[in-house]
Amino acid sequence: MAWDYILLERPAEHIARVVLNRPEARNAQNTQFLYELNEAYEEAAQAEDIKVIITAANGPHFSSGHDLRERDHLENQDRYRPVTGAMGYHRAGAEGRMAREEELYTGFCERWRNIPKPTIAAVQGRCVAGGLLLCWPSDLIIAADDAVFEDVTVAMGIPGVEVFAHPWELGPRKAKEMLFAGAQINAEEARMLGMVNRVVPRAELEAATLALAQQIALRPSFALKLAKQAVNNTQDAQGRNAAMMGAFAMHQLAHSHCMEVHGLPVDPGGINPGVAATYAVGDEPWRAKTPS
Ligand code: ZN
Repeated sequence: MAWDYILLERPAEHIARVVLNRPEARNAQNTQFLYELNEAYEEAAQAEDIKVIITAANGPHFSSGHDLRERDHLENQDRYRPVTGAMGYHRAGAEGRMAREEELYTGFCERWRNIPKPTIAAVQGRCVAGGLLLCWPSDLIIAADDAVFEDVTVAMGIPGVEVFAHPWELGPRKAKEMLFAGAQINAEEARMLGMVNRVVPRAELEAATLALAQQIALRPSFALKLAKQAVNNTQDAQGRNAAMMGAFAMHQLAHSHCMEVHGLPVDPGGINPGVAATYAVGDEPWRAKTPS
């Protein structure tokens, strides 16, 4: 399978590595990127000999989030076929936007979270807003010591990224700090909060992730599948999914509010225009203005 933005590698026996490979745009995610990523996960999930799936990223940063410049989903409406059951995401207004985000964000992320094989994300550099949606669905996260996690969406008028896992990943107080203040969570802090399993030097990220994957792959695949399901079921029994769906409805309300008030699905006052223009040529990921 040839993709433009995603690589699927087999770095060792029983291990697949899905690589975000749009480093010139700091792995910003457009519709094509996310469909390719979903296809790579499907292929790894269905491969009989693969027991553990790694997600890694090429370039200095894991992901700068959603590609805010994208118009592809409007221009190529028939190019993509929904795979998570959501339909009609090309329709006008809130209906189409909600359906599209149900597919690309909550739909894909829950699908990836529930792949019946252990998954590990290896994160370096910046992981901004939608970038969280590419590491949080993994069972384990290994962070390079330069990793920084942040959700900049509140500055843009939105109460958090579409997949509202913040309280589950960080605990409620840190989740609020991340959201209210745009607080950046560094690798070591993320480890102390339980969001990240291990922090390793940047140069050792790939080897450390592969070694952990190989250690996991020594165990029987059925026991791994059941152990994963047992933990995920525990979170779901605590109301995780229902709470996230409630937050997703508020996220859609905020998009609609911004459309009414600003004519855009986000508050443009929160976007740093200089950075939005430069991320694609390789400087820094776009980010929201930090209100003074
Ligand atoms: Zn959204």
